[in-house]
Amino acid sequence: MNSVLERFNKIQADITKQTASLKETVKIIAVSKTFSIDHISPLVDEGHIHFGENKVQEAEKKWSSLKKEKVNLKLHMLGKLQTNKVKKAVSIFDYIHSLDNIKLADTLKKNEVEMGRKLSYFMQVNFANEKQKLGLSVSDVPSFFEYCKNKIDLNIVGTMCFPPFETDPEIFFKKAYELNKSLKLNELSMGMSNDYSKAIKYGTTFVRVGSAIFGERNI
Ligand SMILES: *Cc1c(COP(=O)(O)O)cnc(C)c1O
Repeated sequence: MNSVLERFNKIQADITKQTASLKETVKIIAVSKTFSIDHISPLVDEGHIHFGENKVQEAEKKWSSLKKEKVNLKLHMLGKLQTNKVKKAVSIFDYIHSLDNIKLADTLKKNEVEMGRKLSYFMQVNFANEKQKLGLSVSDVPSFFEYCKNKIDLNIVGTMCFPPFETDPEIFFKKAYELNKSLKLNELSMGMSNDYSKAIKYGTTFVRVGSAIFGERNI
């Protein structure tokens, strides 16, 4: 069997086992950034739906014709989104996980209206207050959420958490779970190749797994 498929199936089996007693199903976003379509396609052909990218241009190049062919595919934007790339992003992506400021929210709304498309959004929250990282500070989340939901009607589905590498992610996963619950949001985006199983312990509904499926990235 193809090695990408083999690794994916093993992760899927692990997750199915871990979630056997839970109500939620956990969806795997296969993070295919930097990899060519040739490397990714065994998973697409097998019927997997959710894929993640972190650059608009790369996503467009790799996925636009494939998405027309396979209309069920869902593409997730995981990286920083600049407002000048929003138009393209709204045309190619189905989910944006990096929503973290009003200007971006307004620009997304404007382009949704112009294109007659509606996306789903995760608010990225900087739970550890890391200076270099994207994300809202925890205290800004309720008012930002209120604005997106009630003022401009963006479909916010949950919170996205990308904890610092050097510490145990569990405290951040717990914070994300509690914040999400307090806002009555249903989806959570957390857990990567090294810690998806911990994220599942804290109720995540999407895990974002790249290298454990596709292999190490060169860049
Ligand atoms: C690259 C990336 C991932 C996947 O990381 P792996 O460690 O390869 O699983 C997940 N989330 C975000 C935001 C990323 O940029």
